[in-house]
Amino acid sequence: MDLIVHSLYSNKEVFLRELVSNASDALDKLRYLSVTDPDLLKDGPELDIRIQTDKDNGIITITDSGIGMTRQELVDSLGTIASSGTAKFLKTLKESQEANVDSNLIGQFGVGFYSAFLVSDKVAVSTKSPKSEQQYVWEAEAESNSYTIREETDPEKLIPRGTRLTLYLKRDDKGFAHPERIQKLLKNYSQFVSFPIYTWQEKGFTKEVEVDEDPAEVKTEGDGEPKKEVKKKTKTVVEKYWDWELTNETQPIWLRTPKEVSTEEYNEFYKKTFNEYLDPLASSHFTTEGEVEFRSILYVPATKKEDITDRKTKNIRLYVKRVFISDDFDGELFPRYLSFVKGVVDSNDLPLNVSREILQESRIVRIMRKRLVRKAFDMILGISCSENRDDYEAFWENYGKFLKLGCMEDKENHKRIAPLLRFFSSQSNEELISLDEYVESMKPEQKAIYYIAGDSLSSAKNAPFLEKLNEMGYEVLLLIDPMDEVSLTNLNSYKDKSFVDISKEDLDLGMHVNIRTLFLNILLLLTELNFENRSCGAYSILM
Ligand code: ADP
Ligand code: MG
Repeated sequence: MDLIVHSLYSNKEVFLRELVSNASDALDKLRYLSVTDPDLLKDGPELDIRIQTDKDNGIITITDSGIGMTRQELVDSLGTIASSGTAKFLKTLKESQEANVDSNLIGQFGVGFYSAFLVSDKVAVSTKSPKSEQQYVWEAEAESNSYTIREETDPEKLIPRGTRLTLYLKRDDKGFAHPERIQKLLKNYSQFVSFPIYTWQEKGFTKEVEVDEDPAEVKTEGDGEPKKEVKKKTKTVVEKYWDWELTNETQPIWLRTPKEVSTEEYNEFYKKTFNEYLDPLASSHFTTEGEVEFRSILYVPATKKEDITDRKTKNIRLYVKRVFISDDFDGELFPRYLSFVKGVVDSNDLPLNVSREILQESRIVRIMRKRLVRKAFDMILGISCSENRDDYEAFWENYGKFLKLGCMEDKENHKRIAPLLRFFSSQSNEELISLDEYVESMKPEQKAIYYIAGDSLSSAKNAPFLEKLNEMGYEVLLLIDPMDEVSLTNLNSYKDKSFVDISKEDLDLGMHVNIRTLFLNILLLLTELNFENRSCGAYSILM
């Protein structure tokens, strides 16, 4: 707890983002389960989040009508730090301290439920699961290392379903219990929550009321007694009252028109949704129509992904009619070798209770997959065409090996992958070249794309075979990653030029070179010996 509090000290407002995102997760779970079990909503169809503040006492309550927790779930989820988002956070924190990553990372990272203690002395979680008859209250104080669980008995505090968090703020943090403060933070952090978030706000309206004017003496004509006349006048007053106010925009960003969404909004959505701290390298927002209709936003991250065999990538979030379905796929919706690409996909054509089996069998999913892949490649091609060569170099550094894997796994898309590959070359100095660049600088009579594999750049450059091709001015690709050669072998050819390994003994070029070089050397010798005239004939035959 100490570690969390200290590392997040200047960033403590993240507590609200974390707690709202837990509420949103709980609502997502309920909405998803209710598709097959509508009974779950019998205690109220509303799915929303309500935040109330009591500034005099420094208390914030956050109530969601989500899935709630049973007693056991309370113990399992909140009783131990080990299984929570907080644990992941602590792990990253330890790693990042070594790497000395700036505190922005911390601000962007999922900190989890325990962030409530950044600002609270005491936290109470009162929760009712549809699976349980009782409502339970979990309570803990920041100072102590233990918690209590009791049944909720106060009838005033019973909720039909969901979870109510009560934060008893620390003395110095009571400022968070102001409605305007909460509203401002929500605008900042939670604009992409797809459930309505209401805040309890003081409102006012103006009203015209009749009030008595000061009684004035009014002279009357004649000699009668002066009369007192009371005149009425109207006055505008402000009437105050409290009510719930919708605080976020619930229209998902992917349903909006691309022209109307700013780059900042795309980037924010990406960072929020995928827990990333760097802006993406590229994004693509599109709608497909026709046979299958769906909307999607895809992103190429800027952070390196190491493990190309990782199957639990959770990189594509599937929604059906705006309901979050799953992000747990294994190649059904998006090929594994493109798992570094992240994104959301929303379809109206799939059933809400879509299962793994349905996904595997579905023709619709096959079409979606095809389109998504195409769009992903367009997006990557976009980076490679960028004015700034560094952009694609960064991309290649991070994800090059994924594309090489694609050469092996996805024959159908060889045409799209091949132009994106990059290699070292005998004619460029440490700079990577594309196959297009290679083909462009081929000699007119050159038939094939030549390559040589080596353990390192220097060993490839010093290969004995290379010398001959250098002499002829033929460029040679230097393959120093074992995956390079495998991917070229899989591609087989590029623009009708086959790939040829110059170290293979049967390289027919090798023979020519030897004979040519031999003859040229003899000719040179002859020239030096002044046999010019006689050698001319032989020379021209050779050329
Ligand atoms: P994470 O959200 O990454 O799982 P957290 O520390 O934020 O980690 O939360 C831990 C767990 O507590 C959640 O996974 C969830 O099971 C449970 N939980 C937290 N808040 C709620 C809530 N409002 N409704 C239901 N369950 C919740
Ligand atoms: Mg969480």
